[in-house]
Amino acid sequence: MSERRTQRRGRRSAAPLWIIALAVALAGLALAALLTGGGQPRPPAASMDHGWELVLVNRDHSLPAGWDPELVTLSNGTQVDQRIYPALQEMFDDMRDQGVYPVVRDGWRSEAVQQELMDERVAQYRGQGYSWSESRELAEQWVALPCTSEHQLGLAVDINPDSSLSTGDQVYGWLAEHACEYGFVRRYPPDKTEITGISNEPWHYRYVGTEAAEEMERLGLCLEEYVAWLDENRAA
Ligand SMILES: [Zn+2]
Repeated sequence: MSERRTQRRGRRSAAPLWIIALAVALAGLALAALLTGGGQPRPPAASMDHGWELVLVNRDHSLPAGWDPELVTLSNGTQVDQRIYPALQEMFDDMRDQGVYPVVRDGWRSEAVQQELMDERVAQYRGQGYSWSESRELAEQWVALPCTSEHQLGLAVDINPDSSLSTGDQVYGWLAEHACEYGFVRRYPPDKTEITGISNEPWHYRYVGTEAAEEMERLGLCLEEYVAWLDENRAA
């Protein structure tokens, strides 16, 4: 008993330094986690209230728990939720019939792939001399944090021109005009960046079904606004 007390007393002078060192180390770790997103809490899960077509995944709503779509693999190896495949195929067939040649550059993504994309984009900005926090902020304008990307739903596609046959203007122009007829909406238009939090992406299309797509087009609403509009209308 008395021996223990002596030991404690003996350590007392060294303890504060040791604690300060530990606190500094922990603060450093916390800061690193914050800057790399490692400690970022996942936003609440997206609601399924309006059906699978209208699940809203964005910076404020993460992938619903247990979301595990059945995937179809396209000829170039990209994958999409099999539920959107018939509409996508029909749209592409009609585009080609009209002399416009698209390709799906990206469809479904796993969480690991989404994380890689984020890490690559952050590293790119770091390489250009931006600080960690600046790099993350810039990267997040283009790449969604893991579990907050629509690509993880399997309901979104990045559509590019088949470059030897069509230009970007041809493909994006056709899509802007006709995609809603097939149930796809331009998810991140230039006039909604404040709401979506994502820069203008003329290539990123999201399946919502034809009824919703045409209504969104008619009302001029992006998915965030449309879901809120449905919530209000349903509550009324
Ligand atoms: Zn995309």
